[in-house]
Amino acid sequence: MRIRDTRNITIIGGGLSGTLLAILLAQRGFSSELFERSPDPRRGAPLAPGPGILSLGERGRHALRLAGMEQAVGTLVTALHGRMIHDRRGATTLQPYGIYAYEALYSISRERLTHCLLDAAEATGKVHIRFGQKLQAIDWSARTLSLDDAGERTFDVLVGADGAGSRVRRSMLGASDLQIGQELLDAGWKQLSIPAGADGQPPLDPHALHVWPRGGYMMIAMPDIDGNFSAMLFLPRKGDHRMPWGFAELDSWTRQEAFMAFNFPDAAPLIPELEREFSDNPVGQMGTIRCSHWHVGGLGLLIGDAAHTIVPFHGQGVNAAFEDCTALMEIIDGGADDWDTAFSQLQHARQANAEAIADMALDAFRTMRDSVRHREFMLRKALERELERLHPGVFIPRYSLVMFHRVPYVEACRRGRVQAEILDELLAGKHELTEVDLDKAAELVSDRLVGLT
Ligand SMILES: Cc1cc2nc3c(=O)[nH]c(=O)nc-3n(C[C@H](O)[C@H](O)[C@H](O)COP(=O)(O)OP(=O)(O)OC[C@H]3O[C@@H](n4cnc5c(N)ncnc54)[C@H](O)[C@@H]3O)c2cc1C
Repeated sequence: MRIRDTRNITIIGGGLSGTLLAILLAQRGFSSELFERSPDPRRGAPLAPGPGILSLGERGRHALRLAGMEQAVGTLVTALHGRMIHDRRGATTLQPYGIYAYEALYSISRERLTHCLLDAAEATGKVHIRFGQKLQAIDWSARTLSLDDAGERTFDVLVGADGAGSRVRRSMLGASDLQIGQELLDAGWKQLSIPAGADGQPPLDPHALHVWPRGGYMMIAMPDIDGNFSAMLFLPRKGDHRMPWGFAELDSWTRQEAFMAFNFPDAAPLIPELEREFSDNPVGQMGTIRCSHWHVGGLGLLIGDAAHTIVPFHGQGVNAAFEDCTALMEIIDGGADDWDTAFSQLQHARQANAEAIADMALDAFRTMRDSVRHREFMLRKALERELERLHPGVFIPRYSLVMFHRVPYVEACRRGRVQAEILDELLAGKHELTEVDLDKAAELVSDRLVGLT
């Protein structure tokens, strides 16, 4: 179908990417009908399961700016300037994210962001949101979809923004030679709450992402604007000879309490509902899903987690999902004539990038779990910062390229590899930053890196 002849676009999933996409399409004159399986969360219904707090980097913030939501979202975020590492004795060390003020992450409650996007989508007057409507199946040749409550509907063009367990993706299996690769992580996560004090004061530094790395498992916590923190405990699902404690072994309050008190002595007393949350909050799964293709001709497209689920350790799932939306808008604005062309251009532009961030997220899992508390890691980070200061715009740590810039993930990954080799060469046999040969560093940087344009 020609893009300019399209009257209405059907979107499955009223989570973060589906709603943002609807807003961006409305800005371009398209109407959309958005089907969300859950009831309206603004009327008190719980959100679909997921993290309570998210961190937004530059990619996500840029997409929100393009959607005209910078101001509305700006009041809901807290700037995080670094990682606060908590050791087993409760001592803390701040590792700044970078040397420039813009190198900050922004934590935001998923609920507040969702409400804000839903309000903005409805305010366009072009987005019709149908809550409590769960997609069951799609007949691509007949262009019909069936919903739990609303029976069968026809569609012209359909976008699947229905998350990691996407039904739209499943329905594509029958309609095309879609190959889906799925790797589940052997770790799970559980949400815990660290509330603000009685005076409303945050119980931890609110301008840091708090990490309790323990080698094999860890906890992180991020603030909301009201002083409450949302914590996530990441543990193997089942213990083994290397790490005897997994969620399966923490099967009684006695064990849970002892485990938390021993491993997180400064955090455990800040979680008043620990016993209830351990028993009520489910253990969430994490994994990577890679699809051979993301569209069915010009009929249907997958975006966000539906197309590329990644593990959450780089904090990029939403950021990448929002980037899918803005990339599609660039293609439409660039004059693509029909949806088949637009969707295949989007897949061409984004698929390798999705693979790259999936790999970097797995890498970040290993780093956060094991290395952030090691001396060598601290030295490496210190040298990265020094090289960034000495070679601004040329040596930019990979973490910064992913979080605080919008260079394609593939390019961030490539530059990251080159920079890692430079760091390896400079740090071989060194124990202190003062021992590093900065003249040699300048040579390596100018030989192997060009400035970021
Ligand atoms: C522990 C954890 C921490 C994370 N932290 C971060 C972070 O800090 N920063 C970050 O960028 N990302 C983070 N992520 C990833 C992020 O949550 C996802 O990438 C993001 O939510 C994907 O957005 P989406 O719109 O594609 O899917 P979702 O947010 O999953 O939305 C999908 C929507 O589709 C609806 N739906 C599903 N099936 C149907 C159906 N059959 N019919 C109708 N509707 C349906 C769902 O109810 C939901 O509303 C984290 C993930 C986890 C698990």
